[in-house]
Amino acid sequence: MDSWEVVRQRVREKVSHEAYENWFARTQFLNEESGTIRVLTPDKVTKTWIEQEYSPVLRQALEGLPYAGIVFETGTTDSNNNNHNSNNAGTAGSSQAASGSSAASSDGLDFAKPALSLNPKFSFENFVVGSSNQFAHAAAQAVAQSPSRSYNPLFLYGGTGLGKTHLMHAIGRALQSNYGSLRIVYTTAERFMNEMIHCIRTERMNLFQKHYRSADILLVDDIQVIAGKERTQEEFFHTFNELFDHQKQIVISSDAAPKNTPGLVERLRSRFEWGLMVDVQPPDLETKMAILDKKAGEEGVDLPEDVRVFVATKTKTSVRELEGALVKLIAYSSVSGVAINIGMAQQVLKHLTASPEKRVSMEQILKVVGERFNLTPGQLKMKTNARQISYPRQVAMYLVRELTQASLPEIGRYFGGKHHTTVLHSINKIDELKQSDATLSRMLQSMSDTLQG
Ligand code: ADP
Ligand code: MG
Repeated sequence: MDSWEVVRQRVREKVSHEAYENWFARTQFLNEESGTIRVLTPDKVTKTWIEQEYSPVLRQALEGLPYAGIVFETGTTDSNNNNHNSNNAGTAGSSQAASGSSAASSDGLDFAKPALSLNPKFSFENFVVGSSNQFAHAAAQAVAQSPSRSYNPLFLYGGTGLGKTHLMHAIGRALQSNYGSLRIVYTTAERFMNEMIHCIRTERMNLFQKHYRSADILLVDDIQVIAGKERTQEEFFHTFNELFDHQKQIVISSDAAPKNTPGLVERLRSRFEWGLMVDVQPPDLETKMAILDKKAGEEGVDLPEDVRVFVATKTKTSVRELEGALVKLIAYSSVSGVAINIGMAQQVLKHLTASPEKRVSMEQILKVVGERFNLTPGQLKMKTNARQISYPRQVAMYLVRELTQASLPEIGRYFGGKHHTTVLHSINKIDELKQSDATLSRMLQSMSDTLQG
């Protein structure tokens, strides 16, 4: 074991698994000169990060060892001499060459251009304001009118399909037309993460950082995606600070408030809370009707009042679902050549009126399935692969999955301690069988009706 390996193993015990994988796993021992260990890091970000964040940990790790200190380096010529092909040293050796900016676009590194990434359909003009989203809308407009003056960061959160992405694009587009010279960068957290990973791999972190840190406006959608992703959060943290310190506007969206996002590191959470946090609520009936009106109008379709009421009351919460219903109606009407009417709406959208889910318990399901197969609930939970039991059990698991919120591991536990992959296998099997087996399909339907009726 070389001296760096000794130190590194001590570090490993002190830091999280992710931190170790992100920062230390790809380092390499170079040599040792008069008590100083020389270590090769794969890129500059790693070197800087280790030096800034881990020096106390490293100092601790060195205690009791006969070394004076550690020097981190990137891309030295020493490593080139070794003629490694694919390891860290080899790629690190080429980092100087990679830093030339002309290479940027020629290797798949294609940062989203705002003009392309902002959807023109998502504008303020076609965003319907109601009591559920008026605060989010007002905050978004304030930011679009005077960026970095009103709320920074602006943090929009709420359930899926409620208009967060729409508002973010609207901000971007409004800024684009109000302040043509601003560099507006819209991205999703997912994209941010993938670009980062790509850039680390290809030694282009300088470009990545330049791209994001030179933004005047940074819009990051669905930030919850990076929860639990330590390295991405670290990178985003630095991006955030750099922009914030220079009074650049940051807008973030998420499916939940920062404090309700597990895996989000504390320092990001607190920064998100510096600015304004507004939630977007599910639309109320009135807003839904207004949205339907607007969308129908955009499509040049006339929506009778009773149809509007029907669609608005039958869709549950998200605007996306509302839109989906309308699109179906329009499609049906244009194919059949019949104008949209209430009868057609009831027919085409009957999935919306299907019995609203009633809470069904696993016990009830076991009872109903047991009655059908002449088995007791206890027998259905037995640890046996006899077909007289395993088949009904699979049916029961399938129904549990269909009719309750239970997770696969929960189902497994309930059915006598089955592994969740076994549960999944059972469910898939029934799902497949019922495609070809009409009797099974009917039986499932009738049991499900009994349970929900
Ligand atoms: P989220 O990002 O919150 O999941 P989106 O912004 O993607 O939701 O919205 C889903 C769909 O609903 C989009 O097509 C969007 O245009 C539409 N939508 C949401 N809210 C509104 C609104 N208030 N007015 C008009 N359309 C809306
Ligand atoms: Mg969205």
